[in-house]
Amino acid sequence: AKLGGRDRIAVFDPSMYTAAVMEAEARTELERGLGADEFTVVYQPIVDLPSGLLIGVEALARWQHPTRGLVGPDSFIPQAERTGLIVPLGAHVLRVACHEVAGWHSAIPGAENVRVSINLSARQFQEPDLVDTVRAALADSGIRPHLVVLEITESLLMHDVDATVVTLHELRELGVQIAVDDFGTGYSSLSYLRRFPIDILKIDKAFIDGITDDSDDATLAEAVVGLGKALRLSTVAEGIEHADQQEMLSQLGVTYGQGYLFARPGSADEIAEMVRAAYR
Ligand code: C2E
Ligand code: CA
Ligand code: CA
Ligand code: CA
Repeated sequence: AKLGGRDRIAVFDPSMYTAAVMEAEARTELERGLGADEFTVVYQPIVDLPSGLLIGVEALARWQHPTRGLVGPDSFIPQAERTGLIVPLGAHVLRVACHEVAGWHSAIPGAENVRVSINLSARQFQEPDLVDTVRAALADSGIRPHLVVLEITESLLMHDVDATVVTLHELRELGVQIAVDDFGTGYSSLSYLRRFPIDILKIDKAFIDGITDDSDDATLAEAVVGLGKALRLSTVAEGIEHADQQEMLSQLGVTYGQGYLFARPGSADEIAEMVRAAYR
């Protein structure tokens, strides 16, 4: 008998069954973690490039899991996106980050202009109440809105252009800034980017890695910086690990940098100490 077509449906595929069970278990586990308040936020400094002065931080989610220990986002954000749980999780990160950084503004003299960048996933953009969620997080924390940067990925921009443009305008009316994350990994062209109300381009680490030994990467980084300048946006280079990368990027005119060279992500207390030291 021929296998395939309709016949194939009758074949029991244990791997499909296993995948479905694992997905359901992951969802339950995520829900439990959210209910038990196990998700925390760490912060990675963003610095002014020539000087290295800390000017802001990026909020990054972590899961303080009772048996698995401290879990990084690569192993739960994709599941949270698939199950839709990224919506409450993302709102939690937003609230915590605005609240903690607003605390630094009032507790650390000189640090009242430190910015906080928060990642938003495409799934959060599909929620009709995203703008209300952001408005509430700003109001509850008392943070000044222009110090909040919402990071969205380039692929999100390509998704549903008209709806995204409307939402971005609404967000910007709240006073927050918009950054395009992982820039260079998608397909946006100059004319395309002009349609979006954005403030900052974050150049993906992939372009930064080989910048000092691969002339193609250097040319690409230069092109991205040129794009940012043409659109009058500030630029952030991600994943800077070596001093010669900092040197080269700052010569190219990149505004800000982020990476292990300056600091790894740290707890709110650890990074508050760095902020204190930077503005002492
Ligand atoms: P991302 O937004 O591109 O964040 C930067 C990632 O690069 C972080 O990883 C950071 O720790 C890492 N990184 C920074 N500097 C360096 C460096 O010099 N070298 C290397 N090798 N890595 C560096 P992390 O914290 O594991 O986050 C991974 C991704 O998970 C993030 O990438 C972001 O896409 C996602 N993510 C994290 N938190 C959230 C969140 O609250 N919401 C959403 N939607 N996504 C999040
Ligand atoms: Ca980011
Ligand atoms: Ca990024
Ligand atoms: Ca990245």
